[in-house]
Amino acid sequence: MSTTKLCCTNESQLKHLKRELQILLQQLQADLDAERSDQKQEMSQLSSTEVLDRAEASAVVGLQLTSLSRVKQLEEEIHECQNALERIEAGRYGYCEQCGEEIELNRLMANPTSVLCVGCQSKDELKRNGRQSITL
Ligand SMILES: [Zn+2]
Repeated sequence: MSTTKLCCTNESQLKHLKRELQILLQQLQADLDAERSDQKQEMSQLSSTEVLDRAEASAVVGLQLTSLSRVKQLEEEIHECQNALERIEAGRYGYCEQCGEEIELNRLMANPTSVLCVGCQSKDELKRNGRQSITL
């Protein structure tokens, strides 16, 4: 193995990050499984209850919504992890998806699934948070 093109991320750091991502991925998948089996339980409790009053019914719906958004969030995180692992395999890991600049190592260490550099990330957040205020 010769040195890779990544200049701020050397091979041992990359290996470390890959390991982190794999552990993270396993945890997320375990969380997702747990969340899904909880959901099933709630569903079966719901169907076994003949009559729910309004308050109970809305509490159950509330719970399901929370659980659904949790599942959705976990699925997104899993997707990001898989994406990052694929990028490592493809040798594209550590570069910004938008501008192609290297992502700072500190940033990758703090959040191994980062796909944007600090600059692009903050632009992206601006876009998401305040659509009315982009005049760039
Ligand atoms: Zn960028």
